[in-house]
Amino acid sequence: METFDEQVYISFSGGKDSTVLSSLVCSLKPDILHLFSDTGCEYPETLSFVEEERQRGKNIVPVRPVCRDGSVWTFERVVATYGYPLFSKAIANGIRTYRHAKTPVTKQHALDYLGRMYPKALSYLDYNISDLCCEKLKKAPLKRMAKRMQTQCSIIGTLAEESRVRKRDWIAYGSNIFFQKKDNQCRPLSFWTERDIWDYIELYKIPISDLYGQGYQRNGCMFCGFGLCAERRKFGINRFERLSLTHPKEYDYMVSRWASLFKACGIPY
Ligand code: SF4
Repeated sequence: METFDEQVYISFSGGKDSTVLSSLVCSLKPDILHLFSDTGCEYPETLSFVEEERQRGKNIVPVRPVCRDGSVWTFERVVATYGYPLFSKAIANGIRTYRHAKTPVTKQHALDYLGRMYPKALSYLDYNISDLCCEKLKKAPLKRMAKRMQTQCSIIGTLAEESRVRKRDWIAYGSNIFFQKKDNQCRPLSFWTERDIWDYIELYKIPISDLYGQGYQRNGCMFCGFGLCAERRKFGINRFERLSLTHPKEYDYMVSRWASLFKACGIPY
């Protein structure tokens, strides 16, 4: 806040980590701006929790995925246009690059990369899979809104322990990335563990989304296919399988559109 003359905002997802982040930052600046990415495929519990937080006095502005031409990007439109977010960002990026490469050299590079790093993914090259969903539904609209509101830095609630990429990034840059990359970022929870998050929630009696009481470990988007395999390994059930139990209407919608893709890619649902 000092570095950027308070022109900062919290990137707020309605999940437990960003709720803890919000609680910490609001203790210093109660009216801080929260930008909430409403992707259109949020769990109903996330939307109602965000509304509750707003009613508790948090300064939350929803950001919807609207194109420059004014049309709205829905999850279904993103999948039809670019491909489904499936497996992991790295695999989906490799498959998209392979499928849409402009030159044979790029195509071959994508093939080599997948063969070297994720050989199993070579079986899914024919399917409509891509990593562009987050860019269209979250990142680009958030960036536009942050610019429009003249903010200079985002405060985000990522933990280094969440993934190898985040850990490497934290070791390389630390918690504050100021004036080094295109966007300034403050990541004060980087060195927290998930246990720390739960301890803080319990200690300070922080309200969190009802979703966690239904067995979900994360909020995020209902139909997101990133990280499903790890969920099954860790918890014996993935978020699609859980969706069938907790949100049958949304599950039926998802299956009616993309069951054949899940089947072809060996995704349990
Ligand atoms: S979390 Fe998944 S579904 Fe949501 S915007 Fe990102 S890629 Fe798309």
